Amino acid sequence: MRFTEDRVQGLLERAFDRLLLRNTRVAAVQRVSDRFRLIDLEGDALQGAAWAPGNKLQVKVAGPFTARTFTPIVFDAVRGHVRLLGYAHGAGPGSDWLRRVQVGDACQVFGPHRSLALGDLAGPVVLYGDETSFGLAAAVGAAMAGRAVLRCVFEVESVAEATSALQALGVEAAMLVERSDEACRMQAASDLWSRGSGDGTLFVLTGRAQSIQQARHALKGRGVPASRILSKAYWAPGKAGMD
Ligand SMILES: Cc1cc2nc3c(=O)[nH]c(=O)nc-3n(C[C@H](O)[C@H](O)[C@H](O)COP(=O)(O)OP(=O)(O)OC[C@H]3O[C@@H](n4cnc5c(N)ncnc54)[C@H](O)[C@@H]3O)c2cc1C
Repeated sequence: MRFTEDRVQGLLERAFDRLLLRNTRVAAVQRVSDRFRLIDLEGDALQGAAWAPGNKLQVKVAGPFTARTFTPIVFDAVRGHVRLLGYAHGAGPGSDWLRRVQVGDACQVFGPHRSLALGDLAGPVVLYGDETSFGLAAAVGAAMAGRAVLRCVFEVESVAEATSALQALGVEAAMLVERSDEACRMQAASDLWSRGSGDGTLFVLTGRAQSIQQARHALKGRGVPASRILSKAYWAPGKAGMD
C-alpha cells in the first residue's frame, strides 16, 4: 500500500514539475551579509516569460511541492536571467536553501506570476516593508528610473545588515527602523502619509502582515483613499510559505 502511495506521489510530482516548473541553474550567489543572499538564476526556460516589477517567482527549495516566494529584482526574458535577494530569517526550508545554495546548483522555479499590480509607476511611491521587500524596492526604483520619487521605510531586525543589503542593491535614502523598537515602528507607520507628496502618491505596503495592517489603518486615518494603497503580506508569524 505504502509503495503504491509513494509511486503515485512520485508520478504526480514529476508531472507537476514537467508541466509547470522552469528549469534554471544558479549562475551566481553573493553573500551580502550573514542573512542576505543575492542570487542569479539562468536558463533557456526563462526566455520569453512575461514579467513586470512586483511580480513574484516561486522557487522549489526542497522536496515534493515545497516552494518559497521571492521578488525578481531584474528579469531578462531575452537572455533567460533573473536576480533575487533572499533573506534567511531563521528556520524554514526557504532559509535553509538560501544558506546552502551554490553556483551550478539546479533550481526549478514557478512563474513569474502577478502579485502586486503597480501600474505605470509614473508618480511618487512610498514603499513600506521589511527585509523581504528590498528586492521589490530595487525593481520599483529601476522601473521608475528617476521619473518620480521613491521613498522607502523598512522595519528590520538589524540596521547594519539591512544597510549592506540596500547598498548592494543601490537602494538609496531608505529610512530604517528596528523591528524590536515598538514605539519607533508604530511612529514610522503612523507618519507614513507625511512621506507622500500630494494626492498622486501610491503607498505600497509589503512584508509582515501585522505591520501592513497597522500602516494601512494609519494611512486611512489620515484620509489616504484605498485606491492609493496597494498591499501584499509576504509573511506572518506562524504561517509557512505564503505566496
Ligand atoms: C509575493 C511574495 C514575495 C516575496 N519576496 C521575497 C523576497 O524577494 N525576498 C525574501 O527574502 N522573501 C520574500 N518573500 C517572503 C518569503 O517568501 C518568506 O519569508 C518565506 O516564508 C520564507 O520561507 P522559510 O521557509 O524560511 O520560512 P517558512 O517555512 O515559510 O516559515 C517558518 C516561520 O518563519 C516565519 N517567517 C517567514 N518569513 C519570515 C521573515 N522574513 N522574518 C521573520 N520570520 C519569518 C513564518 O512566519 C513561520 O513562522 C516574499 C513573499 C511573498 C508572498
